[in-house]
Amino acid sequence: MKTFKIGGIHPNDYKLNAEAPAKDLALPKQGIVFVNQHLGAPSKSIVQKGDKVKVGQLLTQNNAFIGSNVHSPYSGTVSKIDMVYDASGYRKEAIFIDVEGDEWLDSIDRSDTICRDIALSGEEIIAKIKEMGIVGLGGACFPTQVKLSVPEGKKAEYLIINAVECEPYLTDDYQLMVNNGEQCFIGVSILKKALNVSKAYIGIEINKPKAIAIFQELAKTFDGIDVEPLKMKYPQGAEKQLIYAITGREVPSGKLPVDVGCVVCNIGTAFAVYEAVQKNKPLFERTVTVTGNTVKEPTNFNVRVGTPISNILDAVGGIPEGVDKIVSGGPMMGKALFTTDTAVVKGMSALLLIDQNESKRSKDVGCIRCSECLKACPMGLQPYLLSALVENENTEQLYHENILDCIECGCCLYSCPAHRPLLDLVRLGKFNTRIWVTQNSNNK
Ligand code: SF4
Ligand code: SF4
Repeated sequence: MKTFKIGGIHPNDYKLNAEAPAKDLALPKQGIVFVNQHLGAPSKSIVQKGDKVKVGQLLTQNNAFIGSNVHSPYSGTVSKIDMVYDASGYRKEAIFIDVEGDEWLDSIDRSDTICRDIALSGEEIIAKIKEMGIVGLGGACFPTQVKLSVPEGKKAEYLIINAVECEPYLTDDYQLMVNNGEQCFIGVSILKKALNVSKAYIGIEINKPKAIAIFQELAKTFDGIDVEPLKMKYPQGAEKQLIYAITGREVPSGKLPVDVGCVVCNIGTAFAVYEAVQKNKPLFERTVTVTGNTVKEPTNFNVRVGTPISNILDAVGGIPEGVDKIVSGGPMMGKALFTTDTAVVKGMSALLLIDQNESKRSKDVGCIRCSECLKACPMGLQPYLLSALVENENTEQLYHENILDCIECGCCLYSCPAHRPLLDLVRLGKFNTRIWVTQNSNNK
């Protein structure tokens, strides 16, 4: 069975709430909508205190190529625009909306009708995706229209859809596939049209047999979309690993997927694209998995962007005793929340509650030269060496050892019997190396 070639690990998948359908979370009294929710040029708010807004109305406009709009998830009154902590602890501009009812723009099609005919041209699709604020929902929040605009001189041959959801605990993509399969396939067809490719592959790991069965049936009724069941291995959802698993093509160091003829999008993004193009619906809501061994009833919630985190935690009975950390995302690539006094953003896939035992770190006893981290690294790096170079502040050598290829998957940390803080060190090393590269651009 297909998978990627180098490294990888096999953590327990802990899909605790996989079969529980997502529940709609009640609207909050006040929504907190961050002005910037994408990777790229900063946006500006186009509303002011006192403005009345409807669901779907534009809140920020971003005309930069690598930029993305934000739309109101609520109807109500803008009560203030203020700085507030995001999940990582940075103070960022946010629009506070006092929620009054739930009045949507008439332009959004809220009917259950599913239309497979795609009326827009490729160019019109890309423009619509930008207008509707669609970003990659796999976590990076890269504006989707940029991925679809293949640079001159390069050609996309295949669209690769990441429906792997290889992070332990996460089940929001799975629920989407099981309950909205047809819409996901229409989204994939729209992405294919925008890219002008005739073939798309949807990669799904074999721990999701129900989703594979539904998708294989759907694939019989759509042109040029194949479902690829994949062997379970983390981090198969990473772009380079997924491309190799499905096509056998290797993306060289420093190159992009399109350099080997591939464009990768997440299945959640495909669904958001369906809603944007066929329903004229901007991206202002998503599914968030709330899970962890201490959570009484792990649940997937359909939530509006801007929902306070505390509202979601209240819906699972509050923070259970003994919880030490709340992680935004999965246990491997997620980041611990700086504060719960923040709100859902487009890229938030999960809230993972971790207790004291699970979060406790064992003491670093020093490298024992076992090479487990080397075997685990899916990028073919030498994490033991990188960590030592970071500690010795040898940034130039880090650059030559290709530290910037690191995808921060955490496989090295997971594998190390000496409990070296490899991921922390490698992240620090990448940060320092980026600065070094900027300062020494002629040394490349
Ligand atoms: S975090 Fe980086 S160095 Fe560690 S295994 Fe993943 S890619 Fe390799
Ligand atoms: S896994 Fe840990 S102990 Fe083994 S070589 Fe790597 S850093 Fe050293």
